[in-house]
Amino acid sequence: MKVNAYAALEPNGKLESYSYELDELGSEQVDIKVSYCGICHSDLSMINNEWGMTQYPIVPGHEIVGEVVAAGEEVKNVKIGDKVGLGWFSASCMSCHECMDGEHHLCLHNESTIVGRHGGFADYIRGHWLWAVPLPDGINLKKAGPLLCGGITVFNPIILADVKATDRVGVIGIGGLGHMALKFLNKWGCEVVAFSSNQDKKDLIIAMGATKVINSRDPEELESVTGSLNFILNTSNVSLDWGSFLTALTPKGKFHTVGAVLEPLAIPAFSLITGEKSVAGSPLGSPALTRTMLEFCVRHDIYPIVEEFPLTKVNEAMKHLEEGKARFRVVLKNQ
Ligand code: NAP
Ligand code: ZN
Repeated sequence: MKVNAYAALEPNGKLESYSYELDELGSEQVDIKVSYCGICHSDLSMINNEWGMTQYPIVPGHEIVGEVVAAGEEVKNVKIGDKVGLGWFSASCMSCHECMDGEHHLCLHNESTIVGRHGGFADYIRGHWLWAVPLPDGINLKKAGPLLCGGITVFNPIILADVKATDRVGVIGIGGLGHMALKFLNKWGCEVVAFSSNQDKKDLIIAMGATKVINSRDPEELESVTGSLNFILNTSNVSLDWGSFLTALTPKGKFHTVGAVLEPLAIPAFSLITGEKSVAGSPLGSPALTRTMLEFCVRHDIYPIVEEFPLTKVNEAMKHLEEGKARFRVVLKNQ
């Protein structure tokens, strides 16, 4: 089968029309006709080879929703005609300890949708049935794509850190991931403080349910929340004054990063020691938790705020994200 896609041929390259042939479908694989694909900052980082693992040509795109159009004979759980979502992972080994434990996102042999294979800026995408997560009835397809990467990436830490409805929490960086985190934590019942470097977003952030917006780069403003937050989730991808954020935690507070900051995090040991605080990170979440999250989204009408571009305008869409103009997630529509 021929796939029509958009690929970058070199670091920092523009996306160009690119087609490739899919071989015979594996017995446990499905082909999905892409309806929509969100653009995650990781797509930009991969195009620019910021993480040193990009193979060119790269077809980005790992926030995919669409319809199953072909299924191998061993495929379980989904069938032709089903609406599914596919995120950062598209296969796991299914036999290691983590897979057997239901934690397929921690499998060391995972296949990533855009690493060494082609992603969702395309009309079709292939993956293992496990990661083709069935979409619940009633879901808004136009807005669901970003839930498959950004959404589950910020939902999983809420479970991992055992965040309670009565907690006061903070989210650093109100972009694609951050605004979804804010919406989840708000519905969770928490008081949510947003840390943003862009004061132009303030009104929108408050409208999404934050109780206050603090400048993530202003030491004095950060001091105003000293010792008050049980949990802080970082979604920014740049180095900030992490010591100030640890100071903002309560004793036993947890700092969790999903933002792929390139430099090592400077964490002051004494802040951890005196308050029994902890620092953690995580990649996306399991297929089972992704299903749970999608049901939670339908139940509470939690969706990203999206800006839609046709797939043919993918370069304009990437530029919009790169310039920090996305409010708050760009989604490509496959015509
Ligand atoms: P995004 O939409 O570009 O949002 C990133 C936000 O970080 C920006 O909106 C901005 O928020 C803040 N930021 C950017 N530059 C800044 C600066 N110089 N100073 C202070 N704040 C700054 O990106 P995204 O798609 O949400 O992705 C966020 C990060 O998560 C990326 O590193 C991405 O690769 C990573 N990621 C990780 C996983 C995982 O599995 N762990 C999954 C998906 C994505 P404000 O304007 O509010 O300051
Ligand atoms: Zn992503």
